[in-house]
Amino acid sequence: VTVPTTCRPLVVVTTSWDDGHLLDARVAALLAERALAGTFYVAPDNSELAADSRLDDGAVRDLSQTFEIGGHTATHRRLPDLSVSQAADEIRTGKERLEQIIGGPVESFAYPGGAFREEHPALVQGAGFRSARTTARGSTSLGGDRYRMPTTVQARQHPRDWPGIAIAEWAHPRLALGCITNWATLATLIFDRVLATGGLFHLWGHSWEIDRFGQWRRLETVLDHIARRPGVVYATNSGTLDVDVLTTGSEDDQS
Ligand SMILES: [Zn+2]
Repeated sequence: VTVPTTCRPLVVVTTSWDDGHLLDARVAALLAERALAGTFYVAPDNSELAADSRLDDGAVRDLSQTFEIGGHTATHRRLPDLSVSQAADEIRTGKERLEQIIGGPVESFAYPGGAFREEHPALVQGAGFRSARTTARGSTSLGGDRYRMPTTVQARQHPRDWPGIAIAEWAHPRLALGCITNWATLATLIFDRVLATGGLFHLWGHSWEIDRFGQWRRLETVLDHIARRPGVVYATNSGTLDVDVLTTGSEDDQS
């Protein structure tokens, strides 16, 4: 990743998309149209998706031409439901399957359902991954642990975030209401702050969920807003690790 030399604060934008659903190809097209980077976390034998709604090997290979492919276990079972050896096997098997499919290394991992226990980050590291993404929201930095990478905003409504938003934006009631009722408004607000002060903006989601909840237009609005900004570094999830200034300090985290 080439960091532009400017006096502005460093701003890095990344996106990630979980599960390996067929509709990931639609997200990929929206990102590509806007020259946005991203990582698709694929569970090749995802037991929660019907076989005919999963990306097939050829589609994963196609995605890998433009985007990073990340590991998401073989079958998408939640790691805390498994024994340590089963969890290690899921993590490793998913990685090996994807590496066979794309013919290259798979370096980033995301925990299925964001669920993990203390012992799992070490298993992910032991399998040869460079990083692991959680489903934590509200962060505008990489955080202190590359095997517990947080995100900024998910492309869906999160009613449990509403009290925090209301408190954080108490001085701007209309803004608070907009952010509470529309995740895209929240994403836009946080992006604008990151743009002004520097940091990492990480948008993530599930294509199948965007479709189920009719969020495609909102997604396009956000992608239009964050794309093609002069001086902004657009990186895959693993690419953010190479922008080393991001790894220092997490006091800018919002939660
Ligand atoms: Zn998932």
